[in-house]
Amino acid sequence: MEGFASPHLFSGSTLDSYTSGVWHASALLADRVKAVRQPYSGAGVAELQAQVDAVDLDRPLGDTGAALHEVARLYLDNAVWFHEPTYVAHLNCPVAIPALSAEVLISAVNSSVDTWDQSATGTLIERRLIDWTAGRIGFGPDADGIFTSGGTQSNLQGLLLSREETLASLTEDRSTAIPRLRIFATTESHFSVSKSAGILGMAADAVVGVATDGTGRMDPVALAAAIDDVRRDGGIPMAVVATAGTTDLGRIDPVDAIGTICADRGVWFHVDAAYGCGLLVSPRRRHLLDGIERADSVTVDFHKSFFQPVSSSAVVVRRGETMRRIAVHADYLNPRTATVPNQVDKSLQTTRRFDALKLWMTLRTIGSDQIGEMFDAVVDRAHEAYQFIVDEPDFEAVAAPTLSTVLFRFRPAGMSVAACDELMPKLRQRLFYGGQAIVAGTTIGGHYWLKFTLLNPNTTMGNLRDVLDLIREIGNEMLGQQETGEHEAEAVMA
Ligand SMILES: *Cc1c(COP(=O)(O)O)cnc(C)c1O
Repeated sequence: MEGFASPHLFSGSTLDSYTSGVWHASALLADRVKAVRQPYSGAGVAELQAQVDAVDLDRPLGDTGAALHEVARLYLDNAVWFHEPTYVAHLNCPVAIPALSAEVLISAVNSSVDTWDQSATGTLIERRLIDWTAGRIGFGPDADGIFTSGGTQSNLQGLLLSREETLASLTEDRSTAIPRLRIFATTESHFSVSKSAGILGMAADAVVGVATDGTGRMDPVALAAAIDDVRRDGGIPMAVVATAGTTDLGRIDPVDAIGTICADRGVWFHVDAAYGCGLLVSPRRRHLLDGIERADSVTVDFHKSFFQPVSSSAVVVRRGETMRRIAVHADYLNPRTATVPNQVDKSLQTTRRFDALKLWMTLRTIGSDQIGEMFDAVVDRAHEAYQFIVDEPDFEAVAAPTLSTVLFRFRPAGMSVAACDELMPKLRQRLFYGGQAIVAGTTIGGHYWLKFTLLNPNTTMGNLRDVLDLIREIGNEMLGQQETGEHEAEAVMA
């Protein structure tokens, strides 16, 4: 009997349909991007909600071209474009083109890098990239690691390994020890640290806030004291999380000094370099990560400072054997007797995309030096932007940047800090719905600041001056409206 041959599934006999589908998608994208002049259309939630709701998912269009055109209207016409130079909000980057070629292969072949028999060379390529990253960190030959979905999962896994190592070193029962485990981090560390503590079953006060110095970096003396205090009070120090590139200020905790404290006190040392990992390949700023090789585990987000499409992240550990603590075996998948390499033993995921190929293609095409130069360029630009803002009489900035974020606000002469704190979030919203530029917003010490996060080497000082002019224009207009009492409507919108 003849089998049923679906014309819709990728195979050797549907290649015409496949190539035409991929070609149509890329042609449509190119066509739309050619017309893009600003990072966002300015469409509101209600408008887009209505468009999405109007689609009847039970009535297919029957044709890829038709579905693509619908998607172009629904999605592309109102996408937020990270390649636009006035998109300077979050840690999103324009993506390396070789990585996009890799995406084409990854999706169609659909390898799963969990077992050898679902990936073959995919497993070996991922392993080479982990080794390469470990080499850049300065780890020795015992290092290991795994690609993850992002910094959040990498941090979770690093902390999971630290929990298992810590528990294994104790004689007492897991159930009585876990509530006493403590993580040391600063208020500037990423929220995935406290999220992880919850997932790991730790106490509500498991994350101990370590004091920072005047610039927002962890104070090593305070860290040492905090660890000793916890021990004295019957707690169990589990891990220290140093951040190499805090999400708001881009600060790098004193990694080397923290490494010494962790080594002296026998506490797992995790470095969250989700943002700062681009420094690993920086020709001019690699020294900012000195001491990172002392870490037990490191988070790197290639989808931030390596210009990779989401997802591309990894957790890398100095002693590979620590990863064995989370291995679970299934007879049908990765039996204990397996003699071939299995990545699933080391991953929190089972089925997992071969994201590593994107970084591979990028390194093999443009190379790590150029990645590092691009990251250096955005850091240079942040320093320039900071200087520029400081010299503007109606703007103020928080502090000189370390990496590529600049916190600032519009505060013309005579405006109180309180009035500024109230105006800034509304101004940011107006800017967003104008669509011409997108900046982020954050609160530092109870005050609201606007934030440039620069990850696009094509963003020039001219672009940033334009964004500042726009902010000034909107700010002055809103101030004028406040005087005439027109601000009521604004408050409703915000
Ligand atoms: C972005 C970020 C994370 C989270 O990474 P995701 O890839 O978004 O999950 C963790 N830590 C820091 C410092 C970050 O900047």
